[in-house]
Amino acid sequence: MADSAPPEPLLDTARPAITDPSVREPAEIADLLGVDLETGLSDAEAASRLEAEGPNELRGTPPTPWWRTLLAQLQDPLIYLLLVAIGISLVAWIADGASGAPVDAIVIAAVVVLNAVIGYSQEARAADAVAALGRMTAATSTVLREGRLVDVPSAELVRGDVLVLAEGDQVGADARVLTATALRIQEASLTGESEAVEKSAAALAEPGQIGDRTSMVHKGTAVAQGVGRAVVTATGMGTEMGAIADMLDRTESEPTPLEQEIAGVSRTLGIIVVVIAVVVMAAMLLVNGIETSDDLVGTLLLGVSLAVAAVPEGLPAILSLVLAIGVQRMASRKAVVKELHSVEPLGSATVICSDKTGTLTKNEMTIEQVVTASGTIEITGVGYRPEGEAVLDVASTAAEHEARLLLSAGSLANNAQLAETGGEWQIQGDPTEAAFLVAARKFPGVTDEAGRFTRAAEVPFTSERKKMSALEVDEDGRRVLMSKGGPDVLLADCTHVQVGDQVLPLDEKRRADALADVESLSAQALRTLGVAYRAEGADLADGTDAIDDDAEHDLVYLGVVGIIDPPRPEAAVAVREAHRAGVRVTMITGDHPATASRIAADLGIAEPGAAAVTGAELARMDDEALGAIVEETRVFARVAPEHKLRIVDALQARGHVVSMTGDGVNDAPALKSADIGVAMGITGTEVTKEASTMILADDNFATIVAAIRQGRVIFDNIRKFLRFLLSSNLGEVLTVFLGVVLAGVIGLTDGSGGTVVPLLATQILWINLVTDSAPALALGMDPEIDDPMARPPRRPDDRILDRGMWAGILFVGAVMAVVMLTTIDMFLPGGLIEGSDSVEVARTAGFTTLVLAQLFNALNSRSATSSAFHRMFVNPWLWGSIVLVVVLQVLVVEVPFLQTAFGTASMDLAHWAACTGMAALVLVAVELRKLVLRVSARSRRG
Ligand code: ADP
Ligand code: MG
Repeated sequence: MADSAPPEPLLDTARPAITDPSVREPAEIADLLGVDLETGLSDAEAASRLEAEGPNELRGTPPTPWWRTLLAQLQDPLIYLLLVAIGISLVAWIADGASGAPVDAIVIAAVVVLNAVIGYSQEARAADAVAALGRMTAATSTVLREGRLVDVPSAELVRGDVLVLAEGDQVGADARVLTATALRIQEASLTGESEAVEKSAAALAEPGQIGDRTSMVHKGTAVAQGVGRAVVTATGMGTEMGAIADMLDRTESEPTPLEQEIAGVSRTLGIIVVVIAVVVMAAMLLVNGIETSDDLVGTLLLGVSLAVAAVPEGLPAILSLVLAIGVQRMASRKAVVKELHSVEPLGSATVICSDKTGTLTKNEMTIEQVVTASGTIEITGVGYRPEGEAVLDVASTAAEHEARLLLSAGSLANNAQLAETGGEWQIQGDPTEAAFLVAARKFPGVTDEAGRFTRAAEVPFTSERKKMSALEVDEDGRRVLMSKGGPDVLLADCTHVQVGDQVLPLDEKRRADALADVESLSAQALRTLGVAYRAEGADLADGTDAIDDDAEHDLVYLGVVGIIDPPRPEAAVAVREAHRAGVRVTMITGDHPATASRIAADLGIAEPGAAAVTGAELARMDDEALGAIVEETRVFARVAPEHKLRIVDALQARGHVVSMTGDGVNDAPALKSADIGVAMGITGTEVTKEASTMILADDNFATIVAAIRQGRVIFDNIRKFLRFLLSSNLGEVLTVFLGVVLAGVIGLTDGSGGTVVPLLATQILWINLVTDSAPALALGMDPEIDDPMARPPRRPDDRILDRGMWAGILFVGAVMAVVMLTTIDMFLPGGLIEGSDSVEVARTAGFTTLVLAQLFNALNSRSATSSAFHRMFVNPWLWGSIVLVVVLQVLVVEVPFLQTAFGTASMDLAHWAACTGMAALVLVAVELRKLVLRVSARSRRG
């Protein structure tokens, strides 16, 4: 150690970067980083380093300050138009001698500000929701702190942290390898090399390229296999990933089909409306001539307001808010979607491919039967509880001996743990393995037998191999290989069989018997695991502790266990729900075909007796043959992860929108390829979570179906507010257009023959930028009205605004305009209906009718065909918004200074009642239309 013994500074911001850690010994690095590699950092030290060095993040774009988001609301061509309008009215006011207040300019300015605030708060809420999702799905790392293993968000890793790596983990930071057991790292993201790289603790002779640094692991890569530990040497922008972070193409996420469609609608409407506005202005100028500057200004303001009014420029903001709220709802129901737009494919999913174990079943494994060459032994009790015992009253002591050996071997080739606290058992690790430990405790003599051995080496379980082995050494130094795995798989490695205390050759007859035992257990929906061992061979000679993938050969077969894994009760319900919604459910499992078929039948996924297609069969098929069978097959068994990818591709090639679940590292490609990749929140690895679009917090199949339901509800709600906003906007445009064109017919004149506008510019802005937003948002949060699972999935290429919707929008817009103009005519002298009010009062009545008509239309918009009275009061937000708008409208009509601002005049109760009655005609008309639609749909069906 250097002469100035390094004190342990808590806040050492100046701890230098470690150059070339790959060539240094771990001890030296530990010294430089001030960490004890056995216990890791202390919590306090980690916290202070995090404070000093900053979070372990790649520097992205800095967060946008709030005032920028607010200002961004003003960067909109429509707002520019409004600013022009303010300019026009100011000029007119000055030309008029600048007497009094520039009312129009002030009102328009107020509307602009209000609109910006509403837009801002919508955007902020959506951003909050996205940030909350980000926190829920943030990557975590396992580290050693104060001698304990803890999971921390990867963003909180600091230099000196000891990472504990296991298969499927993301490497959270650059780190120097301390220990490695068959540790292979997938580094493609950093080096482009697709083959995983083997790592070891040995220091390099000289620094090399990233791809050659076998003593280092790097941020952004993933553990493909094995386990290991590594001490963090660099975080955040100090990592190799940080060095290239600026070069990484930060592609702006492409607009989704939905966003494109909405943007397209806005654009088309904008163009149409500008044309209409120009026509209206031209018509007015032609009819009236320009006599005063007021005429000109009034006409210009009306044109501008009309353009602003009719373009639903709030759509994108409302859209993202509605998506955000929907996604939050889903998250609270255990389905965590990573990005807002991932909701889109959910609504159109046509196939759910699901794992069996843990997703459709409870993953509570209990060994019920132990079947060996000499007989069957039942074990009673369920779950991981001390109750229950082995029923040993069989005639055969041979069977008892075989079963004891089997359970010993099974609990040695095992990485689970069983802890006993106060008479209760707690398991840790793989439930399948824990089942062996539980059975072993219930079976006299097994624990003693197994206790003689210690672990020397292991060949880990993978979903490809479907087996695992442990090299165990007994008290006398004798080495035995203990294996367990899929019995059909394991039997292929066996040459002998244990019968009593003898080892006999596994001849044809005995092999057939053993396979028959497996079949009969599997047919009872039991998960089967075979157990075998080998006590001889060169690799078991004294001192050799290395075994590899090829260790399983010449094994002695001990028998098979039947494990019950009860189906989740809610899974069968969810399967029915999916089928009702036209969504197919396919089971994809590594388990035995007979077990898989039986459970699939129990859950209603497949017909009883329908055969499963196995991974081996699948491997022999070409893409065409596979394409032909994916349509019919409901159960794929004994599959490996790469088969999942082929199944996804085959289904997609046939036009399906596929949801695929997965938990292991090797499932990641299939999840990425699927339209909806679903990762397991509890048992899933970091890598699958990264590759997924949705994470199931409870690993539960029913949650997938619930998410599909929610996805459809969100889509319905988008339709609801589109229907509302577009028909309301259309109503205004038609009102002004027809009002100007038909002014003579309805008596809308100023006495001297000049045309009078049916709505003032400020009134149009009031409707659009103030009273419309609340009901639109409330519709976006509407509970389901029409059963979303009673119809087939939405086709992904279906437009959200289809022809039926446009027809409905045009109908409502027309009715609104007619109702509104009739109201004006009713109160005005002349025209079709005789009245006696001033233009101000008649216009106020028309304005009020239009606002109220939109409220009635909000009720209409909740469904295309169902009556507005169906589930009428389930949305408190909607009623709240209706009350709010009514109050605002009363204020704008009756409060004197608002009268000045919006050109309104007080109305008596009879006028208010007349307006309400006229507005209600919109509801009546749409109810009639829906009735016709329902009847004709029924007659088409019947
Ligand atoms: P799934 O999750 O679809 O049931 P897995 O890939 O977990 O499938 O398991 C496939 C097969 O591998 C199982 O049917 C079982 O026979 C065997 N198996 C599962 N877990 C283990 C384990 N821990 N050790 C040995 N074999 C196992
Ligand atoms: Mg599994």
